[in-house]
Order: sequence, then C-alpha cells, then structure tokens
Amino acid sequence: MLKELLPGAHTICPICNGECYPTGDRSVLPRRLRDVKVLSPGRIPLNPCPSCGATDDERLIYLYLLHRTRAFEPTAPPLTVLHVEPEPRLHEALRRVSRLSTQSVPASQLVSLDIAEQSVDIVLCNDVLDRIRDEKAALRSIRRVLRPDGLALLQSAISSTLPATHEDAHLTTDTERLKAFGSPLRVRLYGVDYAQRLEQAGFAVERFRWWRGGRRFGGALRNRYALVRGELLYLARPSASRLIDEKFSPAP
Ligand SMILES: [Zn+2]
Repeated sequence: MLKELLPGAHTICPICNGECYPTGDRSVLPRRLRDVKVLSPGRIPLNPCPSCGATDDERLIYLYLLHRTRAFEPTAPPLTVLHVEPEPRLHEALRRVSRLSTQSVPASQLVSLDIAEQSVDIVLCNDVLDRIRDEKAALRSIRRVLRPDGLALLQSAISSTLPATHEDAHLTTDTERLKAFGSPLRVRLYGVDYAQRLEQAGFAVERFRWWRGGRRFGGALRNRYALVRGELLYLARPSASRLIDEKFSPAP
C-alpha cells in the first residue's frame, strides 16, 4: 500500500489507462526553454504516454475537464466545446461524448472565428497563443464566442524567470525564432506577465495547481498521472466587470 503512494510507483495515462512514465528528462527541451525555466514546453512531448501518445498537457487538461467541469458528466446538459488546433488524443476523448458538441479550428482561424457570439461553453487553446502575431485579436475572438459563464483553458509555454514576455518582430527565420522563443513556430515567449496579458484582454484569470487537487489529480507526491510538477493550468473566464464596462461605454 505504501509503495503505491510513493513517487515512481505504477503511473497511468488517464486518457487510455495505459502505463505511463514521468521521465523528467528536460534535456529533450530546446536550450532556450531550459535557460529561462519553462516548466511545461507546450506540445513538445516531455513525457508522452507510450500507448496513446498523450502529452503531459493533454493529460492535465483531460483531468481538469473530467473532475472540475461537467464535460464528461453523463447527466449534465449538452455543452459546446471549441478546440483550437486540437491535440489528437484529447480531441478523440471529447468526440466520444455524444452530449458534447465539439468543434475544432486551426490556429490560423482563431483571429476570425466564424462562430456565433456567446455560444461556446468551453474553449481549449493549448500552446497556440504564442504562435499568433495578433495576440489581442485572438483573445478578443475567444472572449467573443465564450458564453458569459464559459471557461477557456489557455495553456502556453511560460518562462518562470522572464519578467516580461519576449517578443521581437524582427526575428523572421526559423533558426532565430527557435533560439529566442524555443520553437520556430512561436512569435513570442511568455514570461511571468502571462496572466496579466489575459486579464488585459478582458478575462478573469485563475491558476489551478493540480498538486493541490488531491487523488483525482494523482497526488502531489505520487503523481499518478505523470504530470509536470509545478505546471499551472490557466483558467480564463469573461470578466464580468469588463462586460459591464463595455455595455455602458459609448460606442466608438
Ligand atoms: Zn495514453
């Protein structure tokens, strides 16, 4: 019994129930991400499930949806989910739930979503915002389609040492972007001001710490689901005060 609770004991993937191994081998990360202490590298598979390939981010988001939302609850009312640039394993798990109306869009369409205003219950947008040059337009778009009581899970690779997000429009080659942002796909590398940027776009932001979520999230010491230790989940909801401000402010 005690052995079951210890770190390194049998670890499973919550999506496929296959055996999973937290390697913790950060040498696979691009040097820039190690230098500025990015805990979770987004879609770079730090410790993917060997059975289904789910990354640590997919497992964390899946667990949150499972235990902290009504997405997988059989008796809950139907929900609309928008999955931006969907991760395949997580997306498949959502598609299997007939109550969920799940729609996916590529990152390139995020700034101009052809989706009705306030029609989406849950937006999943993992490791996408830092690829989009017009970040403000992307966040505006998410906020526009979210219902007032909706929730957006906005994960990004975030440096825990950069005081401000690093952006440089002059870096145009893949090599330059890999060196500066840890990926040729990125146009910025977020710093500790990440939540502030989301708030400035009209979201109320909450940081979820999975290691305080008890056994459902695998336990702080045990880490049953091979999550990245210290990785925060960013929960963004349309800010009520901002919506009221806009309602009563004069038209531009
Ligand atoms: Zn798996």
